[in-house]
Amino acid sequence: MKYEVVIIGSGPAGYTAALYAARAGLSPLVIAGPEPGGQLTRTSEVENFPGYPEGVLGGQLMDDLRRQAERFGTKVLYDVVEKVELRPFPKKLWLSGGETVEADAVIIATGSSPRWLGLEAEKRLYGAGVSACAVCDGYFFRGKPVAVVGGGDSACEEAMYLSRLCSEVHMLVRRDQMRASRIMQERVRATPNIHIHWNTITVDILGEQKVEGARVRHVLTGEETILPVQGFFVAIGHVPNTEIFRNQVALDAAGYILTEPKSTRTNIEGVFAAGDVQDPIYRQAVTAAGTGCMAALEAERWLMEQKHRKATLGVS
Ligand code: NDP
Repeated sequence: MKYEVVIIGSGPAGYTAALYAARAGLSPLVIAGPEPGGQLTRTSEVENFPGYPEGVLGGQLMDDLRRQAERFGTKVLYDVVEKVELRPFPKKLWLSGGETVEADAVIIATGSSPRWLGLEAEKRLYGAGVSACAVCDGYFFRGKPVAVVGGGDSACEEAMYLSRLCSEVHMLVRRDQMRASRIMQERVRATPNIHIHWNTITVDILGEQKVEGARVRHVLTGEETILPVQGFFVAIGHVPNTEIFRNQVALDAAGYILTEPKSTRTNIEGVFAAGDVQDPIYRQAVTAAGTGCMAALEAERWLMEQKHRKATLGVS
């Protein structure tokens, strides 16, 4: 099957791109990927997406976005892209279900996945005190003690955000220094209710139904302590989902897709990137949706230019 626009990924970026492309009459195909609806389907309440004054469940929000895109003619395929060939025209995508899809323009919206410590308790208590997003879940821990793992800019930002809501924030840094920029480090050090635990790793997160504490170990002394935290935020980086695009689309050192400034254009003609897959900084549903809109508008413009060029050259 050949489409004018194929969107890989079904998070806020993917569905917003689909909505705009569909309303422009491009009948886009969304290939939903391994986690239809993306990261938001794993959170509970979303309270910071504009337009929902009472908040909305992550799954419901993604359902709404999908239905809105489908209403204007988006087709959603519940399959996973295994391989792509983006250089020749048309572009080719191989799906794990065995199908091959061709596209004039491709919008990559495959998102990123939070990096986890690898503890069994992270899976057991995910959504019950364990989180990888302070902006999404911090509100549920108002007035309570929490822990943040990591020493990068993300961990500092998460700690700063949580310090305004929570009684105490324990930052667990595995070395004797942080990777974060100096200004971010200065901010966390100057915040009275942020306690930095240097050379400290997490041995286990305690609790069955909800987080009741964290067992941490000082790597130099071997001493173990239990921190009585009720929220456990992991901020040790994200992994952009770009494995299948490696060696085709230009990526930065961390694997995020490089886009032109103020644009979603990649280094390949007719290939656009939106959402977390090209954004290591903001990573919000609403910013992803914004770049999804940009990608659809840019794809539409690019397709029109191609048609115009072909018409001028007299090729079909
Ligand atoms: P980083 O890779 O910069 O930092 C990851 C942190 O997590 C490091 O302190 C690392 O420790 C620690 N870590 C990694 N694995 C483990 C583990 N298994 N156990 C304990 N700690 C671990 O990721 P970030 O998400 O913080 O930042 C990504 C990029 O985004 C950076 O370029 C950053 O500058 C940027 N960013 C910028 C912001 C801003 O400008 N406001 C906000 C947020 C991010 P170690 O140092 O020992 O490896």
